[in-house]
Amino acid sequence: MTAVLPAACSSPPAFAAGELPVLRERGQREVFCGLTGIVWLHRKMPDAFFLVVGSRTCAHLIQSAAGVMIFAEPRFATAIIEDKDLAGLADANEELDRVVRTLLERRPDIRTLFLVGSCPSEVIKLDLARAAQRLSRTFAPHVRVLNFSGSGIETTFTQGEDACLASLVPEMPAPGEHAGEELLIVGTLPDIVEDQLSRLLDAAGVETFRFFPPRSVSALPSVGPATRVLLAQPFLAETARRLSDRGATIIPALFPFGAIGTTSWLIAAADSLGIASEYVRRAYLSSWRRARTALERPRALLAGKRVMFFPDSQLEIPLARFVATELGMELVEVGTPYLHRQLLQEELNALPVGTRLSEGQDVDRQLDRCLAARPDLVICGLGLANPLEALGIATKWSIELVFSPIHGYEQAGDLAELFTRPFVRRSRLMV
Ligand code: SF4
Repeated sequence: MTAVLPAACSSPPAFAAGELPVLRERGQREVFCGLTGIVWLHRKMPDAFFLVVGSRTCAHLIQSAAGVMIFAEPRFATAIIEDKDLAGLADANEELDRVVRTLLERRPDIRTLFLVGSCPSEVIKLDLARAAQRLSRTFAPHVRVLNFSGSGIETTFTQGEDACLASLVPEMPAPGEHAGEELLIVGTLPDIVEDQLSRLLDAAGVETFRFFPPRSVSALPSVGPATRVLLAQPFLAETARRLSDRGATIIPALFPFGAIGTTSWLIAAADSLGIASEYVRRAYLSSWRRARTALERPRALLAGKRVMFFPDSQLEIPLARFVATELGMELVEVGTPYLHRQLLQEELNALPVGTRLSEGQDVDRQLDRCLAARPDLVICGLGLANPLEALGIATKWSIELVFSPIHGYEQAGDLAELFTRPFVRRSRLMV
């Protein structure tokens, strides 16, 4: 479902010394809500269960977005807030307890249950943090109940994952007394990508690393002052903050998109554990060459084309850096729902001088800028794609870039091909 917020104000461009100017906008936005994250989180952590406390709309979103659920044992459901709950005629906490009890009786294999907040649960001010504590006590020690919000009022698209992972941080154990430095790679990655990155880290001599979230939510990695955190996704600001509060150090790096981003990310990983970057570069030379070769064909099609990113997934800045530096595309504007400068500083430094950045959204104003600039390609949410196509502008759904495996050397060519597809499709239609 699209979350539509009332127009408020749009401030003029803000300039800071030594920084790229950022146009800050606060108005109507067109993005999916954070419930969407359940689609990939439930696949990553098959021993977790996600109970959305929401409306029938929330249930439709999550079922249609994750249509595969009917083929697999469902790992998520919706506790529907009915009209009488919304009108305050029923005790929503009692209703929730009843639904959870029924669920756990039916599914005694559930060990970790996430209560996921939504717009309706927020509107009736249902305190899911307290509900999670109460239910954790009731069902201890067999079931751990946690909560996070996926509400469209509070979150956009990828923030659901951030909220979910942040809720797990307090559950992570402290390292053992004699534990040494350990690398923690943070962000949900497809298993196949995780395996490829593991092999690359092994090849560079990085021996002590874990992934978060893990493939089993009952085997959470430890975190403490010797933990070095390397983010694999750029939208995990709250998770990074909580890991930092536990004493972990966040390592600055480009995100592992394209040959350049992947190399920077791997060097940062090795460097954090004291492994020389020259050794790492040698270890990755053939992977680097393969990735660069895979980029040649898409680059021939895309070089010189003008692209505009609408704010949606928070992947925009690293992807803009990739298309500009490795595919030769020209950046018209790079929008992002939130700009976390600390986490994205390396990416910002790598953007071409003068790149126009915008944070937040006022969709009408951004559409006006888009139509005035007439880019060759727009990366945007589903709701904007068709109208722009009708106006003759090629589009790519940003959600596809979240659902596709795009990290690492092996995926560099596939990632680039995703940007060529709208042009290939259009040329076929014109034949
Ligand atoms: S959480 Fe809000 S925006 Fe998301 S599906 Fe439910 S009602 Fe819609």
